[in-house]
Amino acid sequence: KDSNLISLLKSAVTKVELTAKNKNQHLNCIFDDSQRIMVVIDKDGIEQVLLNILSNAIKYTQEGGRIDIDAFRVGKYARIIIADNGIGIPEKELSRVFERFFRVDRARSRAMGGTGLGLSISKQIVEDHNGNIELESKEGKGTKVTISLPLAPIRGRQNIE
Ligand code: ATP
Ligand code: MG
Repeated sequence: KDSNLISLLKSAVTKVELTAKNKNQHLNCIFDDSQRIMVVIDKDGIEQVLLNILSNAIKYTQEGGRIDIDAFRVGKYARIIIADNGIGIPEKELSRVFERFFRVDRARSRAMGGTGLGLSISKQIVEDHNGNIELESKEGKGTKVTISLPLAPIRGRQNIE
């Protein structure tokens, strides 16, 4: 069954809103929430991915920070971008963040809580959907996560004729 990725994204944002508010952070939703981007997904799985990435953005961004959230179509893919202006990741650690249990700066991470599984699980789920997840980051500047998922095949009118 087809699901609207925009509704799922909206509901994930709503679920983390309070956490962001408590850190005085602004969740800046750029996407047009009246549009529909249809995808064939395991909703619970993709919701888990969105919550993982949004929670990371909030967790690894200082008080008063800002998180830009966008979603749009690119060719046959739906793309979601979650970009923060938080602490970022040092270049030498960047290639390891999708490894299970990997966390940048163990001491600091331990104080923040978590297990280091969020990104590896997210990558697994996205790849199970024939999608792709990428992370770009600059230490002290911020982190941008890009998720691509195949669009649902177009159904309806053109199939009737
Ligand atoms: P868990 O998600 O299991 O609660 P976690 O957040 O530490 O724990 P991951 O989500 O897998 O684990 O992230 C791995 C590491 O990558 C984090 O510990 C953190 O160091 C770094 N990281 C992830 N997202 C960001 C981000 N948005 N900004 C800065 N660092 C990040
Ligand atoms: Mg995490």
